[in-house]
Amino acid sequence: MSHVLIIGAGGVGSVVVHKCAQIAEVFSKITLASRTLAKCEAIAASVKERTGVIVDVAQVDADNVHETVTFLRAIKPDLVLNVALPYQDLPLMDACLEAGVDYLDTANYEPPDEAKFEYKWQWAYRERFEKAGLMALLGSGFDPGVTNVYCAYAQKHYFDEIHTLDIIDCNAGDHGQHFATNFNPEINIREITQRGRYWEHGEWVETDPLAWSMSYDFPEGIGSKKCFLMYHEELESLVQNLKGLKRARFWMTFSEQYLTHLRVLENVGMTRIDPVQYKGAEIVPIKFLKAVLPEPASLGPLTKGRTCIGCLMKGVKDGKEKQIYIYNICSHEAAYNEVGSQAISYTTGVPAMIGAKMMLQGLWKEQGVWNMEEFDPDPFMEDLNRHGLPWVVVEL
Ligand code: NDP
Repeated sequence: MSHVLIIGAGGVGSVVVHKCAQIAEVFSKITLASRTLAKCEAIAASVKERTGVIVDVAQVDADNVHETVTFLRAIKPDLVLNVALPYQDLPLMDACLEAGVDYLDTANYEPPDEAKFEYKWQWAYRERFEKAGLMALLGSGFDPGVTNVYCAYAQKHYFDEIHTLDIIDCNAGDHGQHFATNFNPEINIREITQRGRYWEHGEWVETDPLAWSMSYDFPEGIGSKKCFLMYHEELESLVQNLKGLKRARFWMTFSEQYLTHLRVLENVGMTRIDPVQYKGAEIVPIKFLKAVLPEPASLGPLTKGRTCIGCLMKGVKDGKEKQIYIYNICSHEAAYNEVGSQAISYTTGVPAMIGAKMMLQGLWKEQGVWNMEEFDPDPFMEDLNRHGLPWVVVEL
């Protein structure tokens, strides 16, 4: 019987709240808080209609540590589940330390004035969480999140050593918009316009943004798609935690239409993250761009098709070389029918709920700051099958 506080009433937050409400025996009390109260109220109304569960709502500015601590002390949750933006990770970890509450998120910290994400800022909290007897679980979405757990599962059941890892994220869905991002546009565009990076023979190798591509033939009728090499945060912890790894890369599919729009927006300066002067006021172009693009949460009824995210791994078991592919396919329409959101929010929100469930049930419970692959993957993998994201292992 636990009280979970979900912070962030966006596309992912909505899925997390709907999924937690389906498991009343674990999440006996749910509070949803965000900057905009009306968004929390709309999600709570949908949850009430679909499940009959009453969700408490509140307005909170998670950048304000003092305000958040006061709120945490008043409502006394067992866990803060952060699905606001990466900028809020550190203020929320500070607030959890001060109020004595466990913490979980789905994306690593990014400083607002620099498009750069790294675990170093959050790993620096390890000792403070240990001393406080608290746990922080980082990156419990799909990628990072499920992809880390797939690796831990492969390491436990299929390999003595994993030598190469390719994480491949395919969105074969279509929302019919000229240009829209499937999760927060600001965070998404900052990530995609960064330089590419992969790990080989013990060091990081950089590429120009989206400069390398390959075609991958996705299973179950999705077919061949062009995938682009990107840097992605789970690589940083996986290269530390997987045994014998020689190369690790991350790939994502993009349509030509998406890339053409992105190139134009970049060329005209609309993806800039530094402030520019406009009629005496400071405007950050990417924030203005976010304001005119469709909200990810609004894409639910429009998106058709499927996602396929998985890990392709080569390595050795009992002296023999082997290769496996673990993946999930998620339908945008099925996700929308179940919780009113498209599959990108769904594939992030379900693992966030499962990570919280692991912590609240004591199945994953350690003091300090942890990444997903550091825990026993089996109960998490079982819950993926049970709660909407079934997976398949193919030995190639
Ligand atoms: P949205 O932009 O749809 O939602 C973010 C929410 O956070 C909004 O409701 C916003 O409130 C709220 N918020 C922002 N700032 C604050 C603040 N200071 N205090 C309180 N609430 C705040 O984003 P998504 O739902 O698409 O993404 C949520 C998170 O999930 C992001 O961190 C993203 O990086 C991560 N993600 C992780 C993935 C994974 O696989 N690991 C995949 C996709 C996303 P308001 O609307 O009032 O401004």
